[in-house]
Amino acid sequence: MTEAASVAEAAGPARKPRVKEPATKRSAMKRSPATRKKRRAPDPIKAWVKRLERTRPNLVRDTLDGLAARYGHHAWERRLDPTSELILTILTQNSADTNAEKAFEALRATYPSDRPAERHIPGPGWGGEGLSDGAPPDWNAVEAAPIQELVDVIRPGGLANQKAPRLQATLRTIREARGDHSLEFLADMSPLEARAWLTAIDGIGKKTASVLLAFSFGMPLMAVDRHVERVSHRVGLIPPKATADEAHDYYLAMLAPNEMYEAHVNLIRHGRVICHARNPEHEICPLRARCRFVDPKAP
Ligand code: SF4
Repeated sequence: MTEAASVAEAAGPARKPRVKEPATKRSAMKRSPATRKKRRAPDPIKAWVKRLERTRPNLVRDTLDGLAARYGHHAWERRLDPTSELILTILTQNSADTNAEKAFEALRATYPSDRPAERHIPGPGWGGEGLSDGAPPDWNAVEAAPIQELVDVIRPGGLANQKAPRLQATLRTIREARGDHSLEFLADMSPLEARAWLTAIDGIGKKTASVLLAFSFGMPLMAVDRHVERVSHRVGLIPPKATADEAHDYYLAMLAPNEMYEAHVNLIRHGRVICHARNPEHEICPLRARCRFVDPKAP
């Protein structure tokens, strides 16, 4: 064997030179932008939840536990019948809960019904005193009332000029769709179907729909009001740019169904009593160690 041959043998079989493949129909199709397979955009909510678990492990668990240690554990109880809950929630939109209560009591007094009295069980997240025991208003009479009369009746609740027509339009939509004003049928739907049914009504967003479904039926939905949104942004549970509307679905991905009700109640309570919009009381806050508002590098 020559020296050159033995070097070549030691180097192993000679590599085939790379020959550029002629463009077949198939490879040309692969490269064509028109036929290139579109990559599915990643779901931003799932991506956020994964990232949170990776970069800030146990943040959700620690938040829920910290709040429960301060405000307690809460079992669900029906707060009101669903139509009353919906109307009361509309009355709370951009108004204090105490004022919404006054407007609701005025509806009961002006448009009484002969239905059985019910007890309002406001729970710890509610910001008012709680309604007195009483029968729901006569919703047919509320829907048919002269608009100026209804404005005057609910004036103590605030924003009466906007809310009176909204109440009547909501009641009319429900009656036209269902034949009466009862919303008990929602119990037979899945939470997201029921939320979609309600949000199809003008003026009802995810927050109002979620309040109704969570408090009247115990459905595992998170209602994100300004208190929940503020605490969530400050701690870093939701992305900084997530809107309150988007936050509803971030929570559905972050929490187990059986965590939703208590998380909602305790986050609202925390926003009301410690994590105020102005002058939050960091020094007594159970979430301080993990809050990105006080420490942008908090774990
Ligand atoms: S540490 Fe301060 S900002 Fe953070 S959640 Fe608590 S009160 Fe709110």
